[in-house]
Amino acid sequence: QLNKYVKCKTCSGEGTAPGTHKRTCSRCGGSGVITQVRKTMLGQMQTQSPCPDCNGTGSVIDTPCSDCHGTGKVKSRVKIEVNIPAGVDNDSVIPIRGQGEPGENNGPNGDLYVVIKVKPHEIFQRNGSDIRLEIPISFDQAALGDEIVVPTLDGKIQYKVPAGTQPGTTFRLKGKGIRNIRTGRPGDMYVTVTVEVPTKLNSAQKKAVRTMAEHLKEGSCYKKKQSFSDKVKKFFE
Ligand SMILES: [Zn+2]
Ligand SMILES: [Zn+2]
Repeated sequence: QLNKYVKCKTCSGEGTAPGTHKRTCSRCGGSGVITQVRKTMLGQMQTQSPCPDCNGTGSVIDTPCSDCHGTGKVKSRVKIEVNIPAGVDNDSVIPIRGQGEPGENNGPNGDLYVVIKVKPHEIFQRNGSDIRLEIPISFDQAALGDEIVVPTLDGKIQYKVPAGTQPGTTFRLKGKGIRNIRTGRPGDMYVTVTVEVPTKLNSAQKKAVRTMAEHLKEGSCYKKKQSFSDKVKKFFE
């Protein structure tokens, strides 16, 4: 919806009150131009200027239309249906022929240019034709692996997160991005998993975590942690 000038319906854009007509301007004889001849030292000089009586239009309105005051256009709120092609991005321009404002002196309409601004999405982030998405998973899902639900533009899909997935791991879903408006080729979706550490544990839950921690001390469960503390130890030797 937009506010714009439209052709006045009362006078069909003529600017004259119903039943009356424009009259040919007597000052310029309908040409819209006034020619003045001046005498100068170099002889006669001719200058042409728009006729002030009719503003260069060649005709005069004696009884202006009361709705548009003789301008032939009125401001109106209009509803225009615009087809948004898939893949538009910020500053994409959609031209709509003939939906601009009416021309001067009942001339043809101009064009309307719709400039697209894309609202940010609650979960998807756009990067050109690609989509980025962050999915929080729990520690046990990361450690044991799990099938998670990934939302895409064309519905939910199942994705198998492998056991031992590290926080920040990004996997790519080919072709699940946004269709390029020019090439028609779809971009990809990049899903980054974050591992959520549980908060507000009650005492039973804390106990369970401690028990788990005890069990995880055995073997080489924490390779990065072990290697880092080895390096720190070496550094201070
Ligand atoms: Zn009018
Ligand atoms: Zn005139």
